[in-house]
Amino acid sequence: MSHQSNPVGHFIGGQTTGSGVRRADVFNPALGCPSRQVLLASAAQVDAAVEAAHAAFPGWAATSPLRRARIMFKFKELLEANRDRLARIITDEHGKVLADAAGEVVRGIEVVEFACGIPQLLKGEHTERVGNGIDAWTVRQPLGVCAGITPFNFPVMVPMWMFPMAIACGNTFVLKPSERVPSASLVLAELLAEAGLPPGVFNVVQGDREAVDALLAHPHVKAVSFVGSTPVAEHVYQTGCARGKRVQALGGAKNHMVVMPDADLEHCVDALMGAAYGSAGERCMAISVVVAVGDTGDRLAAALLPRLCELKVAGGLEAGADMGPLITGAHRERVVGYIASGVEEGATLLADGRDLAANEGFFLGPTLFDHVTPDMAIYREEIFGPVLAIVRVPDFDAALALVNAHEFGNGAVIYTGDGYTANEFGNAVQAGMVGVNVPIPVPMAFHSFGGWKRSLFGDHHAHGPEAVRFYTKHKALTQRWPRGARAGADFTMPTMK
Ligand code: NAD
Repeated sequence: MSHQSNPVGHFIGGQTTGSGVRRADVFNPALGCPSRQVLLASAAQVDAAVEAAHAAFPGWAATSPLRRARIMFKFKELLEANRDRLARIITDEHGKVLADAAGEVVRGIEVVEFACGIPQLLKGEHTERVGNGIDAWTVRQPLGVCAGITPFNFPVMVPMWMFPMAIACGNTFVLKPSERVPSASLVLAELLAEAGLPPGVFNVVQGDREAVDALLAHPHVKAVSFVGSTPVAEHVYQTGCARGKRVQALGGAKNHMVVMPDADLEHCVDALMGAAYGSAGERCMAISVVVAVGDTGDRLAAALLPRLCELKVAGGLEAGADMGPLITGAHRERVVGYIASGVEEGATLLADGRDLAANEGFFLGPTLFDHVTPDMAIYREEIFGPVLAIVRVPDFDAALALVNAHEFGNGAVIYTGDGYTANEFGNAVQAGMVGVNVPIPVPMAFHSFGGWKRSLFGDHHAHGPEAVRFYTKHKALTQRWPRGARAGADFTMPTMK
């Protein structure tokens, strides 16, 4: 069967639809060839999805939070039962190793677990007798149709940062996944339907820039959650805000790990192998810069090099694989270009991933630069590949100043044995997610995820309590009770379906 037959389609109003002329190839990065095609939605197809979500909104918003939570509970069970199926799809289209793919599904499930508590999360505040016979209270009400636009690097987890909380809050949703990893979104749609979600509450449009622009232009779309690269995040934020939408747009990153002379170096090197090279560095929380303080540079380089040689770079389904391929051939070339520029700009190339012999697939080996300086492109820009840069600084103040001067502020980590230094770093570092002696400080689902500076545009971080604020409008009510109303003679408990 040709890869052109049976393209990945949309899910609109409870139905999968497979029509359209614009298509893109979906690759298997480990094999380096297209495995399927995906349909690219037109503005009319986006309109159909938004209209389906708009039509479903009044009924879903009026559904009790308890019932919405029960659907989330069922969805969680179905996700658990389908974890391996989803992981396999992720590995086939993204390339990351199967254990990483399964881990990503689990992180997504954790957001659904948090969304199961929505009756508690939506509870407002109440003040009795603000005046004579008058009470005041607050509620949080849903916004309407919310859209999610997601990147290639977490095909399940990043969409699930968004739609479980949006839907649990009473909104309806249109997801536009990355066109490079489209298939998992349809499994999520299928599982939500099986969990009992009414048609139209969750919709998927596959597509590219045309679909994004149509979502940003649509008057029924009230809020947009975006995750992707910084230039697109900024465009989505500015365009969406100019059209009166609520927007949270998470962008790129350059995450630093500061290594103090008193750090446990073995622990730190262990951490770096996963943090810098896991998922081939295609993670917004990957560590791409090690800031070696004082005399740690030589010790770190010496400890890292043999570990790099031990990393098994292979297809994500292969037993023992530590690191899979990059997402596309074009992205591999881009990363190779950064390695060449680092050499040209005078950094010391200690390990060169270009040496990896691979006949097929978009593989690149782990790469390590030393003596990197802040003016070099490999320091300033997000590479999004398995390339780690060591920058040497004399002391803690210089390390902190370096991290804080960078345009991105997603995550930052320090390894130290000293509580005072750890505390100083936690207080003063300009980043949204901070770790002390941990490799990647990703907040749990019941906290919120997001960076500072040019790593996030908007006022709300993703999932956790911030998601309740983002996906709802706050309303304050003041009411004088008519005489006799408090006797409550006619009050009956609502029945729960
Ligand atoms: P991308 O910006 O190329 O694409 C993201 C989404 O935007 C996709 O759905 C894509 O179809 C759409 N898009 C692409 N170009 C567009 C354009 N010109 N106009 C409108 N829409 C467009 O990002 P990517 O390559 O898929 O993902 C990698 C990037 O995502 C990295 O920069 C990474 O740091 C970032 N990321 C950030 C976080 C975070 O939490 N901050 C998490 C994951 C990934």
